[in-house]
Amino acid sequence: MGSHYDVVVVGAGFAGLYAVHKMRDELGLDVQAFEAAGGVGGTWWWNRYPGARCDFESIHYSYSFSEEIQRGWEWSERFAGQPEILAYLEWVADKLDVRRAFRFNTRVTSTNWDDKAARWIICTDDGATCTARFVVSCVGGLSVAKEPEFPGSETFRGELYRTSSWPHEPVDLTGKRVAVIGTGSTGIQVIQEIANEAAELTVFQRTPNFAAPLGNEPVDLAQRRWNAEHHAELRAGSRQHMIGVPYDPPSGPALAATPDERRRIFDKYWDRGGFRLLVSTFSDVIFNQQANETIAEYIRERIRERVKDPATAALLCPTDHPYASKRPPFETGYYEAYNLPHVHLVDVRSAPIEAITPTGVRTSSKSYEFDVIILATGFDVFTRPLLNLGLRGRDGLKLEDRWANGPTSYLGVQIAGFPNLFVINGPKSAVALYNVPLATEDNVNFVAAALARAIADKTATFEATYEAEEAWGRLCEGILNLTVIPHSKGSWYMGENIPGKARAAYFFAGGAPLYRAICAEIAHVGYGGFALDRVSAPIPPMVRLDPAAALLLGSMLARVMKPLDELNLDEVRAVAESLRELQLPGPAMRVETVEAPRARIYIPDRAGPLPVIVFYHGGGWISGSLDLADAPCRRLADENGAIVVSAHYRLAPEHSFPAATDDTFAALSWVWKHVSAYGGDPGRIVVMGESAGANLAAVAAIRARDAGIPLAGQVLIYPPIDPEASTASRTEFADGPFFTRAIGEKMWGAYLGGAELTALAAPSRASSLAGLAPALVLTLELDISRDEAEDYAGALASAGVPVRLHRFDGLFHGVFNMSAFIPRVREMYASIGEFVATCKEQITEAA
Ligand code: FAD
Ligand code: NAP
Repeated sequence: MGSHYDVVVVGAGFAGLYAVHKMRDELGLDVQAFEAAGGVGGTWWWNRYPGARCDFESIHYSYSFSEEIQRGWEWSERFAGQPEILAYLEWVADKLDVRRAFRFNTRVTSTNWDDKAARWIICTDDGATCTARFVVSCVGGLSVAKEPEFPGSETFRGELYRTSSWPHEPVDLTGKRVAVIGTGSTGIQVIQEIANEAAELTVFQRTPNFAAPLGNEPVDLAQRRWNAEHHAELRAGSRQHMIGVPYDPPSGPALAATPDERRRIFDKYWDRGGFRLLVSTFSDVIFNQQANETIAEYIRERIRERVKDPATAALLCPTDHPYASKRPPFETGYYEAYNLPHVHLVDVRSAPIEAITPTGVRTSSKSYEFDVIILATGFDVFTRPLLNLGLRGRDGLKLEDRWANGPTSYLGVQIAGFPNLFVINGPKSAVALYNVPLATEDNVNFVAAALARAIADKTATFEATYEAEEAWGRLCEGILNLTVIPHSKGSWYMGENIPGKARAAYFFAGGAPLYRAICAEIAHVGYGGFALDRVSAPIPPMVRLDPAAALLLGSMLARVMKPLDELNLDEVRAVAESLRELQLPGPAMRVETVEAPRARIYIPDRAGPLPVIVFYHGGGWISGSLDLADAPCRRLADENGAIVVSAHYRLAPEHSFPAATDDTFAALSWVWKHVSAYGGDPGRIVVMGESAGANLAAVAAIRARDAGIPLAGQVLIYPPIDPEASTASRTEFADGPFFTRAIGEKMWGAYLGGAELTALAAPSRASSLAGLAPALVLTLELDISRDEAEDYAGALASAGVPVRLHRFDGLFHGVFNMSAFIPRVREMYASIGEFVATCKEQITEAA
């Protein structure tokens, strides 16, 4: 057995270079690295084809971790070409002096876990073996080309090139008949670049792609220096943006805009170039097929404008997949290339390629002769580079077997059953939609912190648990299913570009801010979901989020919303009101307002007398309003065929306890006396509230019993019950998601205003709960008030009150007001509907 190292790193791309630097120079570890290529650069070492360049601006598609590196490099183009990116990575490698850690031209061929010694045994293709406590895979997602599918390539008598292993020597295409197979990002870059060089260029296209302008241009000398010196300013907020580049946020939903407005916004970002067309136009294009069609048709129109021959234009217009369901390519003069008389487009969807022949390409309908064939047919993405490491984990577990049904991982960083193996930019990481250098830095930093922790604690094994992997897999899949991505066909996003490869969620599509927040939470709680020496910490709340709730949280993080508990009173009130934008609009109906007590009365167009709901809005007793409750009350009235009275109450801290409970009880008493004038049945009143409003509803139910006001029911939507409750949920969700214990305590403090705590604020303290109206208690899994609400439901039941308790998994406090973005809120309405219907029946039976 050869040498032993603390860490073996595999790969010398963006990830490997930074990983070696981090582990060796910052953690002081003994690091050996391997790279199959002859030098550093990874993707940019291999992909030397004509026209190769990046599609995030170079000032963003570069490292951010070092002030010196950012200042020291000037980019000559907005989107640098491959030679310049490679030169940059070589320069970085020298600056960090990391080349000496690598053995180049050396491929790792097997990687076996030795459980007894708690270390990895790594074999390379030069016959050497070494061992390491940790392996950090930086093998890249797009580093193994798709296997050629066409028989006969070895018989071709001309020159055959693969874009992903392009020769280092210049390839002269002048005067030659050239074929390009493939029209993904790579094919498009090659075609537009060589169109003017080849004598004849034939493009074999199976699926047209939605290419949009890149907007590349040279950067003049003064601007280059300015960019390098102002890197901090230019990159500020990058990581808070969904894709890790500070592009403009979108202008709301496309479906809410007029055709003219849509056209104006699409034109604007089409002209600005690159990913802006996707991320800066409209918020719904990636989520809603109908919205997506607006941008898809816009791109088709632009293609038809640019390509002169209508038949060729029609062939170039994609119609079989939504825009961005495949990674969008970007172009410079691509479509104009087809106007050149010597450039031909061959549709191999209708007549597939059958073989490469000694003289060219044969399709099912025709043979073509070429001097040069260029294969731009893509990659076996994410999984193949890792499978090629020949990984065997605990008990000889083969990665192939583990991944038979598609890849699994926790955060993309670890695979259960493979201890001490860390993956940078692995399957189910955020990297596919997150600017890679920044995604890489985040992953490497996370892994370095985990290693530091393991080393400090003398932890022999650090591994993801199977449960955490499953939870993460569910979240990745759930989020992806909310987008149009699964409607793609043949995309590497879903593993579908490789025949026989499992169709699955290959990446986390929740965006950079959410991914980063989840990683931070996991580290903060002591690596929740990981087992350290086989002792696992619980999977943190954010990994258990409902996918839609997760996406919403991600977009809030992207808006750089301050944490709730750091907001002042005005800001809390503004946030509460802004929740209206997250609600589905309520149906139109007759609405009356009364002033004493202040209330809005929602009257559906049904024959009465109707059941009555008295509703109290949420907002922690310090915020919220009748406006906030407007859409929910309309919906409650409509769905339940009920009169809904939305009652105003005075807010703290201006009006502390008992103002709110007095106002809400006064409203209830008024309703009992007067609701028949509005078509309501005073014998069928259900008192209902959300959050703090639910606390007020619970107290109102007690006061009603004591005052002899008959109630048909009480609906408590995640009620805070007692400020002094000491529950597991208060601890577990102290930091959120969304709603924190600190803001909860502030709200209780403002409400009570120093008053003594009685049953009028904390209903569980009532001397008896017997004789109260039947209750429906709705709780949320990831909510500080969950346990006190469920305890209260238990106490009601013990006192003989009929109780229904309905807990909603994966949701956080406040979601009732987020119905437009969290579809499962409709389950809460359904639960309420069933309960209100039963209340009606009970009363009817009693009558
Ligand atoms: P890589 O750069 O792929 O490096 C992995 C290295 O590991 C390779 O050099 C490989 O030889 C080595 N390796 C793999 N297996 C072994 C083994 N068993 N033994 C030894 N060595 C091994 N992303 C963007 O965000 N923006 C872009 O504009 C962009 N443009 C791209 C253009 C092209 C043509 C391609 C193919 C990809 C592009 N990407 C882009 C994605 C790109 O792969 C990443 O941005 C980034 O370069 C990946 O860095 P990495 O270090 O993770 O992996
Ligand atoms: P790709 O997007 O998977 O495209 C492969 C192309 O080859 C597709 O047009 C595909 O057609 C075609 N193809 C594959 N097998 C075929 C067959 N048997 N017959 C006919 N056609 C076949 O691969 P890529 O273009 O190399 O891009 C991969 C990723 O690399 C990109 O998505 C991007 O992330 C990255 N990249 C980025 C840039 C950049 O702009 N910076 C440049 C290059 C690559 P079908 O669609 O019909 O399968």
